Amino acid sequence: MLVSEASRNSKGQEEARYSEDCVFCRIVRGDAEASLVALEEEAAAFMDIRPINPGHVLVVPRSHVARLTEMGEKLGGKIFELAMKVARALRRSGVRCEGVNLLLSEGEVAGQVVFHVHLHVIPRFRGDGFAFRPGPGFGRAPDREELSRVADQVRGSLR
Ligand SMILES: [Zn+2]
Repeated sequence: MLVSEASRNSKGQEEARYSEDCVFCRIVRGDAEASLVALEEEAAAFMDIRPINPGHVLVVPRSHVARLTEMGEKLGGKIFELAMKVARALRRSGVRCEGVNLLLSEGEVAGQVVFHVHLHVIPRFRGDGFAFRPGPGFGRAPDREELSRVADQVRGSLR
């Protein structure tokens, strides 16, 4: 259920929309337990409760947006900015972090489980055992003609 808060924030703007049944909305509003890393005007960061590696952080918009494809590009920029800050912080923090993966899953088929956009910031270190496993179609190199045809297809749909 999507709800609009009646109250207005300090700038007089209507407060962000939230969803009563969304765990990330409850976390952002302080109604569910979380280990918070950062709370900015439009974005929040907190620890993933099932970390791939220690230090695995989720960055989310403070307003409820279910999918990447429904999120405005400006807000997407804010999410990415906070993820960059968290990635830099992880490197300095003493958490084991020799590299970082940023991962955002859009849609069930891509592995999205919670339908409130979230960008994973995953610290990586040699030998951590985490890997992206490519499917059976991987390894075939399409020729230029095919690549350009697909590029045309995508370009034609850009707005
Ligand atoms: Zn939500």
